[in-house]
Amino acid sequence: MSQTTDNHEYYLSQIHQLKQLQKVDDQIYDVKKVLELAPSEFKELQDSFTRVEMQRNHINDKISHLRDQESRINREMEEEKARLKKSKNKLMATGSEKEFHAVSREIDNIEKLSQPREDERIAVLEELKTQLEQLSGIEEQYIDLKTQVEARKATMETQIKEAEARLAELSVQREECSKDIPLPIFQRYEFIRVRLEHPVIVPLAEGICPSCHIAVPPQTFNELLRGEHILSCPNCQRLIVWRDDYLADDPEGQKALAEEQARLRATEAAEADREPEPEEEDDFEEEAEEEAETEEAPRLGAE
Ligand SMILES: [Zn+2]
Repeated sequence: MSQTTDNHEYYLSQIHQLKQLQKVDDQIYDVKKVLELAPSEFKELQDSFTRVEMQRNHINDKISHLRDQESRINREMEEEKARLKKSKNKLMATGSEKEFHAVSREIDNIEKLSQPREDERIAVLEELKTQLEQLSGIEEQYIDLKTQVEARKATMETQIKEAEARLAELSVQREECSKDIPLPIFQRYEFIRVRLEHPVIVPLAEGICPSCHIAVPPQTFNELLRGEHILSCPNCQRLIVWRDDYLADDPEGQKALAEEQARLRATEAAEADREPEPEEEDDFEEEAEEEAETEEAPRLGAE
């Protein structure tokens, strides 16, 4: 008997160590997730910024091209105006009719050119207006994303530095937690940890593994209830522990479980009060039988 108790105490201490190790591993898991996700989230943000920046550059290129066109047209118009003025002055000063006709034709030619140029100018200005509107539409998004990228870059660098420091701390803790765990059990733990999703050690509240939801064979379940050896789920290989043994080092967990069980019992009792059909049926039958007996008795007695 004392041998069994010793085994059980030793068993509980191993479970305690494994749970501590798992707690550290859960934290390592979370920290690694941060280290893994932060850069890819940042890249996503940066990619959307790059897309908007490219669109913005494209619009700015168009605008600068249109402005060049606009100033070229303006320059040409100025030159025309000067030539027209010069020709008109020449017209005033002409002596011969022949010369007058020549200068008049010259003026006509200059005026003929001015209409298509004016049309071109209107088209350029309209396109410029459209592009400026598009630019102002995209500008807010551009500034917003640029601010986000700069802010996220700063926080991410801090976040990664903190996560790396935390990871170093946790690996020291992990070393500390695992040093007292018997090697074969630690190796089983590691085997599961690298192959399966968390957690490695799971508490059973019934004959079913809570991780893979497969029933544990009755023989294994009975051995589990004895609580002397660390057992594995025959299906998923996770380390399985009877719930009460799992909570042996956790008074708060025990309290929460007791409260939960009391709540369940109260709910069941309330339901039983509300729906007493099956019992009532039995009662009716019994009462009916009793009535039949009691009815029969006086009759028999009377006869
Ligand atoms: Zn399982």
